[in-house]
Amino acid sequence: SAAGADAARLLARRDAVFAEVQEHYFAEPPVIVRGWREYLIDADGRVTLDTLNNVASIGHGHPRIAAAVAEQWSLLNTNSRFHYPAVVEFAERLATLVPDPLDTVFLVNSGSEAVDLALRLAQAWSSRLDVVAMREAYHGWTYLSDAVSTSTADNPDALATRPEWIHTVDAPNTFRGAYGLDEAHRFAEDAVAEIDRLAADGTPPSAFLSETFYGNAGGMKLPDGYLGAVYAAVRAHGGLAIADEVQVGYGRLGDWFWGFQQQDATPDVVTIAKAMGAGHPLGAVITTREIAEAYRRGGYFFSSAGGSPVSSVVGLTVLDIIRDERLQENARDVGRYLKERIESLGQKHPLLAAVHGAGLYLGSEFVRDRDTWQPATAETAAICDRLLSLGVIAQPTGDHQNILKIKPPMCFSRKSADFLVDALDQVLTTGW
Ligand code: PMP
Repeated sequence: SAAGADAARLLARRDAVFAEVQEHYFAEPPVIVRGWREYLIDADGRVTLDTLNNVASIGHGHPRIAAAVAEQWSLLNTNSRFHYPAVVEFAERLATLVPDPLDTVFLVNSGSEAVDLALRLAQAWSSRLDVVAMREAYHGWTYLSDAVSTSTADNPDALATRPEWIHTVDAPNTFRGAYGLDEAHRFAEDAVAEIDRLAADGTPPSAFLSETFYGNAGGMKLPDGYLGAVYAAVRAHGGLAIADEVQVGYGRLGDWFWGFQQQDATPDVVTIAKAMGAGHPLGAVITTREIAEAYRRGGYFFSSAGGSPVSSVVGLTVLDIIRDERLQENARDVGRYLKERIESLGQKHPLLAAVHGAGLYLGSEFVRDRDTWQPATAETAAICDRLLSLGVIAQPTGDHQNILKIKPPMCFSRKSADFLVDALDQVLTTGW
């Protein structure tokens, strides 16, 4: 078609100015010109269901954000060394979302920056370098956030190429990890043993850092008590517990605003981004006053656009929308319904072996064999291509790229849940 040829020409121009590492979804992606709620509309006017955009937390094209940005932009946009109300109100509002003693906020522009700063805070606090991170993780692309990114999905050498001061512990995956559900407590015991070993060797870690619900690994819930035990161990040796809530936090899990609440554990440092800006570049670190003050030893902190009036207004408006439209409750209710419906598909289709996650952060795991748990990697990629032809945008995640990540805008409706499940059923029934 003419539109197909236009799409191909635009892709060729993209390839000419971008490097190959700057990848795009799908071999033949539609040209997207508009978004509305959980829908994306292409240049042909074709509507696809977006099951992927956790960043567009409040839904695409939200008129309330558009109006708030237009107004603030026309009034004032500057940096946070100037004094204006929005940045104070936004920081106060963020501080009310986290438990005591977390009360001090840094505003940045992305998740990578937030993770980078969190690690710097821990290193300044402890005057140490070493960090313990979880395997199968992605935390960002800056030097420090990349250092703790251990996923082998994009970089098979990831574990072998970490700096020597990065130490990794097993992803506590009770489905395909070293321990099953009845021995799940051993994951925490192993992580604690690694932290104790580092301390005994004279290199106690400055921090333990992980996602609090395992988003990058496919939305796996951590074993109950995991974070409590590991946080206690790192603190016992003078280090900090850092919770990366960039993907899973901010209401998406439905029953919990933060992943660490599911674990009944309170971190020393929380990193956020993505959902908080609904696509506008926004990130934050929330910590205690004492930890934040220790960073003085590391110099000073300033981010030119972090906490700008426009960014702060975006952040405040996103929080208003999440509250007024009851999006966390929607994530809980629609997420529960969606999870049940996908689980029942699994009874019909042996390939669909498990559904991980909570709320509107779900992962459907495809395996070739439910005894060996052999990942169905190629099948998952093909299923995503077939889903696109049926009007659903979905992508794989995890080290084996065999888990369909489902993390749509939090306004996702039951009707959209049905559309997704029916499309998936059709693909699994008719082949891919
Ligand atoms: N932490 C986690 C858990 C993430 O998923 C990501 C992004 N995928 C980041 C950090 C980095 O965020 P950003 O892309 O905004 O730099």
